[in-house]
Amino acid sequence: LMGQMMQMPLLISSLLTHAARHSGDTEIVSKRVEGDVHRTNWAQLAVRARKVAQALARLGCQPGDRVGTLAWNGYRHLELYYGTSGSQLVCHTINPRLFPEQIAWIVGDADDKVLCFEINFLPLVEKLLPHLGRVQHFVLMAGRSHMPASSPIPNLLCYEELVEAENGDYVWPQFDENTASSICYTSGTTGNPKGAVYSHRSSLLHAFGAALPDAMGCSARDVILPVVPMFHVNAWGLPYATALVGCKVVFPGPHLDGKSLFELFENEKVTFSAGVPTVWLGLLTYVKQNNLKFSSFKRTVIGGSACPPAMIRTLEDDYGVEVIHAWGMTEMSPLGTLSKLKSKHESLDEDSKRRILEKQGKVIYGVDMEIVDDDNKPLPWDGKASGNLVVRGHWVIDRYYRNDRSPLVEVAGLDGQWFPTGDVAAIDEDAYMQITDRSKDVIKSGGEWISSIELENIAMAHPAVHEAAVIACPHPKWDERPLLVVVKKPGGELTREQMLGFFEGRIAKWQIPDDVVFVDELPHTATGKLQKLKLREQFRGHQLP
Ligand code: ADP
Repeated sequence: LMGQMMQMPLLISSLLTHAARHSGDTEIVSKRVEGDVHRTNWAQLAVRARKVAQALARLGCQPGDRVGTLAWNGYRHLELYYGTSGSQLVCHTINPRLFPEQIAWIVGDADDKVLCFEINFLPLVEKLLPHLGRVQHFVLMAGRSHMPASSPIPNLLCYEELVEAENGDYVWPQFDENTASSICYTSGTTGNPKGAVYSHRSSLLHAFGAALPDAMGCSARDVILPVVPMFHVNAWGLPYATALVGCKVVFPGPHLDGKSLFELFENEKVTFSAGVPTVWLGLLTYVKQNNLKFSSFKRTVIGGSACPPAMIRTLEDDYGVEVIHAWGMTEMSPLGTLSKLKSKHESLDEDSKRRILEKQGKVIYGVDMEIVDDDNKPLPWDGKASGNLVVRGHWVIDRYYRNDRSPLVEVAGLDGQWFPTGDVAAIDEDAYMQITDRSKDVIKSGGEWISSIELENIAMAHPAVHEAAVIACPHPKWDERPLLVVVKKPGGELTREQMLGFFEGRIAKWQIPDDVVFVDELPHTATGKLQKLKLREQFRGHQLP
């Protein structure tokens, strides 16, 4: 017997139609590159997204064509998200912080037919123009008054003019839910970036998963400000999850410094946000220096790299903001695990609860995970054994774009094929996962592993430390030993000996770093994570004492 229910493909356009019909007057607020604050709502956004679809069709886009974006978080970017995917085009969000050569390479690899970009990226696109030979149309995401008097870009189009020329009388097409909806490239810390091609189905299921109470817990009563950029794995799915619940959205544009963010949080009564740890460092420094408190901000997801427990404590104890620690990756759309308690944990004391919540968390339904040894045999879930983390699920990639070689592996005794994440992790008896390290960052000392994340977390708990990174340094006897690189807080007093002394009693003696170096700044990747590769190069010749 077959089920006798309606068949409706899971299409991204249905999210926008839903938000426009049922939460039409709910606001979408954007701080623009132009400097002002722009206000629209889901109903108006849906009309403009349909006009975008019409305009792209008028430019000659055919189903499956890729449309590249170089843009911050804002309403025009959201219109492009829906206007492209909704009309069976593929939205290719490009990380503008990558090296220019990488951007040109990515545009070529994705074979973008149209490239849409904001005014601040005009010089970048002009510079890259000789390498963007296959792009047929360049669209400046601005009104007529911001169009340059002259530009080397032939036929530079004006986004607002394209939109205004259309009537919005457009019906979203219905097609196979497995059709590609968007492409996102990994940052490519080794070799060229790799493309993850999401489908409508995977994006919708991910949106459902993301909105669940034990995940991001999005609701119509929230005001959500995604700090995580829309070019970083679709802002962790928030452009879709916010439409799914029909809540108010606030976009910060390029203004991600502590002051700008704080003012936007307050003016728009933001309740929920999401971003990588470095962003919160900036925001926390600003609120602390100016003795400020948040009036509406209640919860935030922090992920993309390990959130130091000290940051969780500060946000929760000093500012009343609940931190949901999350782990994921581009290849996973990106959500894998989030840290929320189970009911059996409610009776625990605060410290024990904290220790659970500091982990990367438990999987959302739709994703499964396992830790395996080098022969792909499962390891025990005892919170101690640490091994290669593999995953499978509805929103995990099956292969990379333009790459026929499957990255998937078999796991002894388990069904299906699994994606090796490149992370090393432990899973405890209650199914909470804790990342030990990226496999290439873990420090191999005398046959034992030392977690760079654990050492960084300890260093970050010192009141004089602003940011800390631990890297492996070659060692004649132990192969590798940990080197701690520290940025002090403004005015912070700290010596090498005091820093090393701080580790005593907090970790096994043999894991304490061999040396400490103080620097003014640490290198970050295009997505705001510590750039360990660069740091290792920087300290290649470092002599440990
Ligand atoms: P890339 O940084 O290579 O562009 P992603 O943004 O997809 O790629 O990063 C995914 C990786 O980031 C994960 O494999 C993991 O190593 C790291 N990561 C993400 N979230 C966390 C977290 N909460 N704790 C520790 N590591 C994390």
